[in-house]
Amino acid sequence: MTAREIFEKAGIPNVSYNVRMADYTTFRIGGPADVMARPANREELIAVFRLCRENGLRWFFLGNGSNLLVSDEGYRGVVICPDGDFNKIEVNGYDISAGCAASMSRIAQAALQAQLAGFEFASGIPGSFGGGIYMNAGAYGSELKDVLASIDYMDEEGFHRIGPDQARLGYRTSRFMTGGGIVLGGVVHLQPGSRDEIAARIKELAEQRRSKQPLEYPSAGSMYKRPQGYYAGKLIQDAGLAGFSVGGAQISEKHCGFVINTGGATCRDVRHLTQLVAEKVDDHVGVVLEPEVRYLGPEGLEPLLEERIIDH
Ligand SMILES: Cc1cc2nc3c(=O)[nH]c(=O)nc-3n(C[C@H](O)[C@H](O)[C@H](O)COP(=O)(O)OP(=O)(O)OC[C@H]3O[C@@H](n4cnc5c(N)ncnc54)[C@H](O)[C@@H]3O)c2cc1C
Repeated sequence: MTAREIFEKAGIPNVSYNVRMADYTTFRIGGPADVMARPANREELIAVFRLCRENGLRWFFLGNGSNLLVSDEGYRGVVICPDGDFNKIEVNGYDISAGCAASMSRIAQAALQAQLAGFEFASGIPGSFGGGIYMNAGAYGSELKDVLASIDYMDEEGFHRIGPDQARLGYRTSRFMTGGGIVLGGVVHLQPGSRDEIAARIKELAEQRRSKQPLEYPSAGSMYKRPQGYYAGKLIQDAGLAGFSVGGAQISEKHCGFVINTGGATCRDVRHLTQLVAEKVDDHVGVVLEPEVRYLGPEGLEPLLEERIIDH
C-alpha cells in the first residue's frame, strides 16, 4: 500500500495528500509531499508516528519551513507539521511556555504584553519555536540557548524534559540535529522589563532587518553559516558575486548572504547557485562555506552541497 492508502485507511484526522511544499516554505520552492499530517495534540502525534513506524513509512518533521529547501520532486513520505495545541503560549511569572508550533514572533508579542524582556532578539526570526530550538536560532548577539529554561521532546523511548545544557545547543546546532528527537515545546525564562523599552527594541530590530535583508523576496534567510572569523555575505560580496544568479535564484544585492527567489526559482537553481558560490569563494579566499539551510530531498534530509575535491 502507498503512504496515502495507509493514512486513508487508518482515518487519522487532519491529513492531506499530494501537498505542494512550496506553500509551506518561505523559499516558496518544493514539489509535492505524498502525505501531510497536522496533528493537533500529543495523542494525534503519537498516532501518526505509530502508523509510520508500523508501516515503515518515511517521515519528516516540519516547522515553519523558514530554513528549508525542498526538492522539486517533493518528498516521498509523510510530512508531519504540528498544529492546534502545539501553538499554545502561556505566561507564568517570568516564564513563558510555548508549544513547538508557536511562532517566535508570537512568543515575542506575549513577552511584550507581559512586560518581559530578553526575547526581543527573536521577534523577527520567521520560524517556529520547535524549529528555533532545533537550530538554536539566534540574532543580534543572542540565541535561544541564552533564554531557554527547559525543553520537552519525544523520541522512541517516550517523553522527556531536559535543561538547555543537555540539549547541546551550539552555533545553529543541537542534539536534535545529530541525535534525533522531536521538540514538543519548552520554557523560556525572561526578566521583568519596561513595555516601552521592549516595544522600542522590537521596532528597532525590525527596522534593521528591513533595511539590511531582502525581505521583499522569498528566501530561507542566511544561506550559509558564518565561517569562523568571517561573514559569509562579505566573502560573497568580495568575490564579486552580488546579484549572481542561476535561473530564478539570485545572490541578493542587498545582503549577499541571502539567496532569493526572484520568481519561479527551482530547487535545482538554488542548489546550483549555492554550489557555484561556495566554490568561487573557496577559490577566491580559501574559505569553505557551509550551508545553514537544510535540504529535504525526495527521501529525506541530504547535504545541500556536493563535495568537491579542493585543489589549492
Ligand atoms: C527572512 C529570514 C530571516 C531569518 N533570520 C534568521 C535569524 O536572524 N536567525 C536565525 O537563527 N535564523 C534565521 N532564519 C532562519 C530560520 O527562520 C530559523 O532557522 C528557524 O529557527 C527555523 O525554524 P522553522 O520552524 O522554520 O524550521 P523549518 O525550516 O521548518 O525546519 C528546519 C529544521 O528544523 C527541524 N525541525 C523543525 N521543527 C522541529 C521540531 N519541533 N523538533 C525537531 N526538529 C524540528 C526540521 O526537521 C528541519 O530539519 C531566517 C529565515 C528567513 C526566511
